[in-house]
Amino acid sequence: MFALQDRTITSQPTISIDWSQASCAASVAAGSTPPTELFFSDELPAIRAAKAICATCPLVDPCLTGAVERREPWGVWGGQLFKDGKVLAVKRPRGRPPKDPSRRMTA
Ligand code: SF4
Repeated sequence: MFALQDRTITSQPTISIDWSQASCAASVAAGSTPPTELFFSDELPAIRAAKAICATCPLVDPCLTGAVERREPWGVWGGQLFKDGKVLAVKRPRGRPPKDPSRRMTA
């Protein structure tokens, strides 16, 4: 009994989340194209489309928190683009930036 009193409990309480309510899951259930290719793409239009799906998701906060805690290596999670476990503020297209700033694309 004394041994238990000396221990520090570090684990977080488990919270049950119904991931079937996620917007990315709902689009699959509705019969549209599985969004996996959007969420794990290097293409800016696909990344933007994935972020747009996340913007409608009621689970964006726990999704982002979980992705940060797991240090997701890549993909769009919780409305943010991850690379090497960190959120990328800006994703630039491949290659040399255009000379005309109005043609620059970011996600
Ligand atoms: S926030 Fe997470 S669960 Fe919701 S649509 Fe985006 S990736 Fe899916």
